[in-house]
Amino acid sequence: AKCGPDGNFSAGEMVPFGPIALNPSSGVLNYGQGLFEGLKAYRKTDGSILLFRPEENALRMRTGAERMCMPAPSVEQFVDAVKQTVLANKRWVPPTGKGSLYIRPLLMGSGAVLGLAPAPEYTFIIFVSPVGNYFKEGLAPINLIVEDKFHRATPGGTGCVKTIGNYASVLMAQKIAKEKGYSDVLYLDAVHKKYLEEVSSCNIFVVKGNVISTPAIKGTILPGITRKSIIDVALSKGFQVEERLVSVDELLDADEVFCTGTAVVVSPVGSITYQGKSVQYGHQGVGVVSQQLYTALTSLQMGQTEDWMGWTMQLN
Ligand code: PMP
Repeated sequence: AKCGPDGNFSAGEMVPFGPIALNPSSGVLNYGQGLFEGLKAYRKTDGSILLFRPEENALRMRTGAERMCMPAPSVEQFVDAVKQTVLANKRWVPPTGKGSLYIRPLLMGSGAVLGLAPAPEYTFIIFVSPVGNYFKEGLAPINLIVEDKFHRATPGGTGCVKTIGNYASVLMAQKIAKEKGYSDVLYLDAVHKKYLEEVSSCNIFVVKGNVISTPAIKGTILPGITRKSIIDVALSKGFQVEERLVSVDELLDADEVFCTGTAVVVSPVGSITYQGKSVQYGHQGVGVVSQQLYTALTSLQMGQTEDWMGWTMQLN
């Protein structure tokens, strides 16, 4: 779907996956005027297909669009386009337990600009791909390295929206971490270099006894939809949840650490390395809290329990 400066998107069309034509002087190619989203469709055992909280992705794209000076599809247009795209690709939704269909909506400044300015025209695209587990370890623990040399976001920047440039800034840190054998990077805040922010593509939680803490959303981290959902699931299971500044020192005596995101779902952290020292969690096993929350969330997403939160949308 396309739209001009009036902000009204045309009806979209379904085309086979393939390259798209883009103006060389488009806003997205020259000034990074682009946003994306990520959500998943799961197949239930009866063959029907479920989306997980797609309105949340629509709303996050709208918030991001404001920050990036772009018009965005309405929540209804967004959700409808996601539904149509999944239904047109339903044979690619894997069977229950074998993965999911990852859905990638993109919003970009496709109109031509020469001097720095928002583009005069925008394009909204959705493509899909079947996926298995994000980390090759599956629910087995991942190993993170804390990075205080690279930062993914600074106050006043664009860290709290899902704009393409945020991911450009983490490519190198992630590449170095992977070369050293880590699964991913855990970033600290750029001002004090002391407080946890998030991982390249997921949020972080620290468990100590009955208290689950996670960095508060203060403009430099992405408000994850899985993060928000896990907070509600944890509260409903009787945990105390704190959204606040979480110091890197708290990693030393945490019981468990886990990450959340659409791609990673809930991934337990087996070890964290910081300034050359490593802390291990759960004897390389999967912590009980991480396991409990993973099971509660995935059984909701896959329609294996009654949808007590009202978070799923059945497509067929
Ligand atoms: N942080 C970053 C930087 C991300 O890219 C993502 C993935 N969208 C997340 C957190 C997790 O967000 P969500 O749970 O909505 O996938």
